[in-house]
This record gives sequence, structure tokens and C-alpha cells, in this order.
Amino acid sequence: MADRKPYVIDQMISAKSIAARIEDLADEIRDEFEGTDKLVVVGLLRGSFVFIADLVRELDLPVEVDFLEASSYGDAMESSREVRILKDLRGKIEGRDVLIVEDIVDTGHTLSHVARFLGGRNPARMKTIALLDKPSRREVDFTADWIGFSIPDEFVVGYGIDFAQRNRNLPYIGKVRFVDAPE
Ligand code: 5GP
Ligand code: MG
Ligand code: MG
Repeated sequence: MADRKPYVIDQMISAKSIAARIEDLADEIRDEFEGTDKLVVVGLLRGSFVFIADLVRELDLPVEVDFLEASSYGDAMESSREVRILKDLRGKIEGRDVLIVEDIVDTGHTLSHVARFLGGRNPARMKTIALLDKPSRREVDFTADWIGFSIPDEFVVGYGIDFAQRNRNLPYIGKVRFVDAPE
């Protein structure tokens, strides 16, 4: 089991840097959606739950929060590429302003699929934001409207993001580094 191999987590992005970046992103999002009657902020479960919580509290706009779950890695470290919707939104988005919130854009399959899926419901305006972007890993041509941080090809955890369901509660983003097992 990959998750049984001993590993340490090296901090990559501090909690302070994340908070500062979110303040700037929230200003840009507010400018984009200024005058909206209500913005539907859609978090992709589960990795975005910490990011969406911090982001909406910085957003000076009337918002509604909804969640969608797409199939992901499972507990593996590689993308499955075939994306399925496991849990749909509770609310309607036709004619509404929508912001899709994702943790990481890696190969690009997940967010491009979800954007196409929700775009088919004819929202008035739809934008995407991801906390992290790994541009070197892209397999489909997709760019989120806002990115928190562009990072190299490392497996990261923390701030909502897991390794086999662990480490979501770290307040910072760190990279996983495997170490030799003790004797
Ligand atoms: P994509 O479809 O863009 O390849 O993958 C996006 C999803 O893969 C992200 O939402 C995230 O769940 C997962 N992912 C990509 N990179 C990492 C990573 O470094 N760590 C973790 N835990 N998940 C990742
Ligand atoms: Mg994800
Ligand atoms: Mg995951």
C-alpha cells in the first residue's frame, strides 16, 4: 500500500501566504461578479473544502454555496482521466452566476469535464478557480480563470488536500517525501 510507505511532509506554501493570496483573489472575483444578485460558489469535494471556506469569507458578495463530487484518484497518486459525477449539485444554476472552486488542476481532466458538465445547464456566467496549478502535467487544454499558486510536479497535501484521506487538516500546503523505513 502506497500510503503505508513512511513519508514526511515538507512545507511548500505557508498558511500565511495562502491567506494573503486568497484576499487578492477575492478582490478580483468581487470585481468580476460585482452587481450579481447571488453568486453560486460550487466546491468540488472533497479537496476544496478548506479553500472554499476561506474564500467565501473573504468574498464581499451575496453567495450561495453548493458542492459537487467528481470521481478522482481514489487513494492512488495518479489521475484516472475518466471523470464521473458522483454527487450532483442540490440547487439549479440556469441563468445564475457560478464560480467553480477546485483544489488542484493537474492533468486538467477533472475541471474541464466539470466546467463542460455545468456549462451545459446554461448559467449566466461561469468562472473557475483553483488553489494550485501544475501546468507541466497538463493533458488537456484547460486554464482556470484564477489560480492561487503555480507549483512544480510534486505530490502535495494539506489545506484540505489528502494523501489516502490523511493530512487534509494541515493548515499549510506541503509536499510528500518518502523516506526509508526504519529497521
Ligand atoms: P486532474 O483531473 O486535473 O488531473 O486532477 C485533478 C485532481 O487530482 C485534483 O482535484 C486533486 O484531487 C488530484 N490531485 C492532483 N494533484 C494532486 C496532488 O499533488 N495531491 C493530491 N492529494 N491530489 C492531487
Ligand atoms: Mg479533486
Ligand atoms: Mg483526493
